Amino acid sequence: MSPSIRQYLIEIGTRISNERQANRPARPFVEWLAGSITSPVQRLRFLRGVMSLPKKQHRRSYRSWLLLSWLVVLLVIEVQRPSPWTRPSEGIGLWRNAEDRHGTAAVRVAPQPEIWLVDKTDAFETYSNGLRIENRFSVANRTRSYLVFSASRPNDIVGERRFVPAGIVFHTTESPQAPFESRHNSSLKRIAQSLLAAVRLKRSYNFLIDRFGRVYRVVREADAANHAGNSVWADPHWLYLSLNQSFLGISFETETLPGQLEATVKPAQVQAAALLTGMLRQRYSIPAGNCVTHAQVSVNISNFLVGYHTDWASSFPFQQLGLPDNYAIPLPAVSVFGFECDSVFLRQGGVRLSKGVMLAEQVLGARAAAAHASLAAYRNGLQTKYWSQLSAVRSDATGMDLQE
Ligand SMILES: [Zn+2]
Repeated sequence: MSPSIRQYLIEIGTRISNERQANRPARPFVEWLAGSITSPVQRLRFLRGVMSLPKKQHRRSYRSWLLLSWLVVLLVIEVQRPSPWTRPSEGIGLWRNAEDRHGTAAVRVAPQPEIWLVDKTDAFETYSNGLRIENRFSVANRTRSYLVFSASRPNDIVGERRFVPAGIVFHTTESPQAPFESRHNSSLKRIAQSLLAAVRLKRSYNFLIDRFGRVYRVVREADAANHAGNSVWADPHWLYLSLNQSFLGISFETETLPGQLEATVKPAQVQAAALLTGMLRQRYSIPAGNCVTHAQVSVNISNFLVGYHTDWASSFPFQQLGLPDNYAIPLPAVSVFGFECDSVFLRQGGVRLSKGVMLAEQVLGARAAAAHASLAAYRNGLQTKYWSQLSAVRSDATGMDLQE
């Protein structure tokens, strides 16, 4: 622990202790601390922890100090962690200097290097970060135009119009593969070409990355691809339904074999995906938290369960793509839209996705309690709102939006 953090802990601990000794409630200060925590789950844990501290105690016990210190460390970590909702233009390296504790210094932002188009022909594009996009399979589809719903207006079932991609959904093609060996080179190339032809015909994705790490544009970004079907996501400002229209689809050529729990992709594919994601995030100002996997967004509206599609339910290399671990975001399908999880989904998702589900359940429980509603009644209300919003999206997209 650095001396500055230690001093900070001592200052806060002393202040709370003084307030309690003066027999004054510490509520405004605790509320101020809680308000600094962006994550609702962490905020709830902090408040519960503070509530569990003894109320009338002039000499604080060792255990109380330990608990208090832990809570403040939680707060410090939370404040310093870069938000997944940072947009690329705001950089990824936020930090605060020593004066910041007193509220006098500005937050400094690490500059994000600009990525620009270097060369463009009918066949390909190259970018300053090393990205090369093949355009030979590029095709048009229906124009991207969609409705988003306000996260701060719970009764918004009308929505607002958008035309620019708000996020990225990552997929796997689950197509037959040849062994990745030099003697199978012609088979590997032939399989990739026939996959591209099929994907183009179905307008399945905006981009496909073959096993050699070559990036192909399929459906151009101005148009929607049929990649996500019934799907939901939410960021702190907006709710998104049926992500074909609102999110880009990037797919990795791979096949998850029977008995295999995790998709495996080649290092060249991960490298190419990192370059592509960097360029797309910058071009369309996509927040890091809106770059997610199909398993995280897919829903089954016939039984109201999450995870109708489970590609990248675990093992997606967020970090290698320059993204935070978005598996840790409370799953909006559960916390915002009221979907439920079954054990099959949790088993397929493994520990990483289970964390997002668990956090979402906690958020849901806290919101139900705050609304003085039972969990079942609160979830029911969210599902009813989802149907109203889906109905608005469907009549806007004339039914085409639900293809996958
Ligand atoms: Zn998929």
